[in-house]
Amino acid sequence: MKLNSIKDLNLESDSTVFLRCDFNVPLDEFGNITDDRRIRMALPTIKYLLDHKCKIVIGSHLGRPKGVDEKFSLKPVAKRLSNLLQMDIIMAKDVVGEDAKNKAANLKEGEILLLENLRFDARETKDDIEFARELSEYGKFYVNDAFGVSHRAHASVHAIANLYDKFHKAAGFLLLKEINFFYKLLNNPVRPFVAVVGGSKVSGKLQALINLLPKVDKMIVGGGMAFTFLKALGYNIGKSLVEEDLIDEAKNIMEKAKEMGVKFYLPVDIMVADKFSEDSIVRYVTFQEIPDNWMGLDIGPASVRLFGEVLWDAQTILWNGPMGVYEMDKFSRGTIKISHEIARSHGIKVVGGGDTADAVARAGDAEEMTFISTGGGASLELLEGKKLPGIEALEIKE
Ligand code: AMP
Repeated sequence: MKLNSIKDLNLESDSTVFLRCDFNVPLDEFGNITDDRRIRMALPTIKYLLDHKCKIVIGSHLGRPKGVDEKFSLKPVAKRLSNLLQMDIIMAKDVVGEDAKNKAANLKEGEILLLENLRFDARETKDDIEFARELSEYGKFYVNDAFGVSHRAHASVHAIANLYDKFHKAAGFLLLKEINFFYKLLNNPVRPFVAVVGGSKVSGKLQALINLLPKVDKMIVGGGMAFTFLKALGYNIGKSLVEEDLIDEAKNIMEKAKEMGVKFYLPVDIMVADKFSEDSIVRYVTFQEIPDNWMGLDIGPASVRLFGEVLWDAQTILWNGPMGVYEMDKFSRGTIKISHEIARSHGIKVVGGGDTADAVARAGDAEEMTFISTGGGASLELLEGKKLPGIEALEIKE
């Protein structure tokens, strides 16, 4: 796969660039940005384009609006971007309407115009070629730095990329970084390579588990999905989360792991609760002693010790999915402790998935990780071995 970096583009001062970013950031009920990592991660690309005195038009989506909806306006993003870059950001009132087009036409070199939410136009998610063509009029060059949406065949990431030749399209620095980390992980990891997989359901990560199995040396499975595996081994799991229809698949995965010599680890103790609530009564039990009518909502201290031992010699660690219902303090300890265990490893530590990135931040370990992906869905699809439409369209075919 060959992608241009923006360094390969022949940018001249006053070149127009349409830059697709992923500024889909979380907002609180007052419209304040609660985590601006996606904006900060796009700064190297934006600064490079500014240094080359480009006229930059940035497009992004935010949330899932159905038509124009002020609640999903990118205005808070413009404000934060302006603070981070210490410069004015010109905000358009629309996407390809009169206001945006006028402002784009009057843009001077080294200025940034931020379009309104791309999904205010229904044609964006339909991969509409006419909409893509209108967006392409904003830039002689097209740069995609929106890894988080590159698994979507949407107009601003897919249809548009096909409108540019190899001299005029490129991946931004963030997109390249994301791809390089996952490519190395999947194709040439430094060994031992340990995958730590958690989260709610086996179904959501089944394809990733199957694809990862032949590539890893050890696999740790925690979180809600562990109970389907424990049940497949014949243990009572009480009222814990289970996917009955995937029990055979879980058995298959464990058998394949054995055949391939991959060490497969499940929690050996569980924090069980009498109900799914912060004010529940909780107990630690071994995996063989989960009582009827109780549900497992976190891993216990013995599992943390065991997983810590497993991770001890790892040279590459991939973590995707929390070990318990980490959103509730009561059930967050297992996830926080595993975050610490991963953080103190000297290997390469890559974190994928929005929940996992959030848990790492709560644990205060973000600085210790080698790389935290900005795209949950996109990184999962890479782990599943899929080709991402946004990246395929950006590929340079000789
Ligand atoms: P996913 O989106 O599949 O990565 O799952 C993340 C979610 O899994 C988080 O919201 C956790 O609360 C949830 N989760 C983790 N462990 C459990 C568990 N033991 N029971 C129920 N939900 C869980």
